[in-house]
Parts: sequence; structure tokens; C-alpha cells
Amino acid sequence: MYGLGMIKGFWVTLKHFVNSYTEDVQWLGRNYIDPEKLRLRQSSKGKGLFTIQYPNEKLEVPERFRYIPFLIYEEKDGKQEDRCTSCGICAKVCPPQCIWIVRTDDPVTKRPVPAPKEFYIDTDICMNCGYCAEFCPFDAIKMDHNYELASYDRTSAHVYDKAKLSKPLSYYASIRPTDYEAEEKARAEEEAKKAAKKAAAAKKE
Ligand code: SF4
Ligand code: SF4
Repeated sequence: MYGLGMIKGFWVTLKHFVNSYTEDVQWLGRNYIDPEKLRLRQSSKGKGLFTIQYPNEKLEVPERFRYIPFLIYEEKDGKQEDRCTSCGICAKVCPPQCIWIVRTDDPVTKRPVPAPKEFYIDTDICMNCGYCAEFCPFDAIKMDHNYELASYDRTSAHVYDKAKLSKPLSYYASIRPTDYEAEEKARAEEEAKKAAKKAAAAKKE
């Protein structure tokens, strides 16, 4: 029958419209704040409204989601230890060239020290490709999940300095548990290999 498809479509819309209100009553007081409700609405069991009421509701991002990079530091003996050695590989491979690094110099000898004195990323230019994280030989730079970076201030707010970029290893472990576990395992294996090599060399002497 001509127009049957349209009637079916309107019926689906009407059902969702009415169910939006019945679900609102069912979830009274927890609507748009309970993540369980959002999961239900987004699933095939959702009967009413299925759009996201941002910013009251936010979709969970997948573990491999990537946005602006951040620098990892480890906490050892109450001190923050940067993983970054200021080797400059990330700045070199960055396609839009939005990373600037200033290496630390020894105050006495003036020789370079493998640590960044300054580290900047222009977040307006970064295209979230993840090359910096892929190429870093020290697992020192990783892609973040935080995508809420909008601000009215162009210069001071959007060019991230070292303090703003630095986050603890525990944060990385919380947003990317799978990668973190695999990297830590590989790191431990590498350390064990090095220790075995050292021990074998010492035995020969
Ligand atoms: S973040 Fe990694 S690649 Fe970039 S300078 Fe530091 S150690 Fe090198
Ligand atoms: S994610 Fe890509 S564009 Fe952004 S800083 Fe890293 S290499 Fe550059």
C-alpha cells in the first residue's frame, strides 16, 4: 500500500516519544545522572529517548580512544620522575610539528641532561594521530581520553606546557589498563634479560 512505510516510521517515532515519558517516570530522580540508564537507553532494550543529554550525560570512550597526548611521570621515593628523556623523536615525527622541547643542561658542565626542561604541545594544531606515542622509545608520551578542552583563551589555555601535560603512571593505568599491563610485562622481561646478560658477563670476568 502506498505510504505504508511512512505510517510505520511515524508509529516507531510515536512509540519512542510516548516511551520517553514512561521511562522518565520509571527512572524518576535518577534520569540523566545514572550511567545505568544511559547504558539501557543505548542498548537494544532502550524504548524511549536514545540521544545523549550532553553534558549531563557522556558516552564512555573506548580504551583505545585518543585525544591530546600527555607525558607520564613515575612516583619514586616521593619524587616525580619524568619518563621523557627529551630525545626529540616525538617532535621529529609529529606531522603538523606542534611539539617543542627544550632539553635540560647540567648547570656546571653545561652538557645536556636526558630530561626535558620545557615541553610544549599546541593542542589546536595537534591532529590526534598518535604518532608521538607510537614512536616514543621510552613509553613516555601517551594519548589521553579527555576531550573537553574548549576555552575562549587561545594562547595561554591551548598551548600546553610540561606541567599541564604531565600525569602520573597510575592515570595511564586507569585509562588504558590493557596497554599498561602489556607494556609493564614487556618492560619487566627486558629488565630480566639485561640482568641475566650482566650476570653472565660478570661470571666470565
Ligand atoms: S616523549 Fe618520548 S619521544 Fe618525545 S622526547 Fe620524550 S622520550 Fe623522546
Ligand atoms: S598526536 Fe600527532 S599531531 Fe598530536 S602531538 Fe602527537 S604526533 Fe603531533
